[in-house]
Amino acid sequence: MNLILLGCPGAGKGTQSKVLTQRYGLAHIATGDLFRAQIAQKTALGQKVEGYLKAGTLVPDSIVVEMVAGKLDESSSGWLLDGFPRTLEQAQQLDKYLKASAKQIDMVIYLAMDENAVVQRLTTRRSCASCGELYNTISRPPQVEGKCDKCGGELKQREDDLESTVRKRLMVYEDLTRPLIAYYRSETTLHEVDGNQPPDKVTEQLVALVDSAKVAR
Ligand code: AMP
Repeated sequence: MNLILLGCPGAGKGTQSKVLTQRYGLAHIATGDLFRAQIAQKTALGQKVEGYLKAGTLVPDSIVVEMVAGKLDESSSGWLLDGFPRTLEQAQQLDKYLKASAKQIDMVIYLAMDENAVVQRLTTRRSCASCGELYNTISRPPQVEGKCDKCGGELKQREDDLESTVRKRLMVYEDLTRPLIAYYRSETTLHEVDGNQPPDKVTEQLVALVDSAKVAR
């Protein structure tokens, strides 16, 4: 099963992807997470992309596509793309790759979200520096402030979750990523889930959709 989760920054793609990939045994290909890991390890790729992440702008298509293609090659038992594609060029390159490797996308799900709510959701988001578990100081605070419930690691705010950068990322999303909704609507059936609901409700609806795709296969 091959899935794409679309949505603006803060729509809940990361949180929901974690649940879905565990439930269905899929590889979680999250381009933002992959870039952050490269930056943390100070690799050549990490150094190349660091400035883009800090500024809230997009990493050039050629770099992203090469990295994702490598991950798709490794994932034979299905995958979920989270944060990719983010431009029409990336979507077209993905289509080419899939055609060449006789693979297909089973479902594209758009997590629709009120963008005004996103600024608050992202500026209050925290993640564990050790295990990556996600928290929110308002809707999902840890039991002990600043510490991960799961592993005791330190909770950090992403540098690009500062308000000015969040606003920049939303502008980039509007300009470059939103057109993908129309692209996938014309290419395949695009399923929409209301991301403004509580996370458990969103998960319930996503699971129902993915189960229906499994039955249809
Ligand atoms: P995310 O964790 O998905 O919010 O991504 C964080 C940052 O990583 C973005 O603001 C971009 O700088 C970069 N990034 C992640 N995915 C992509 C992509 N598909 N294309 C270009 N840049 C990306």
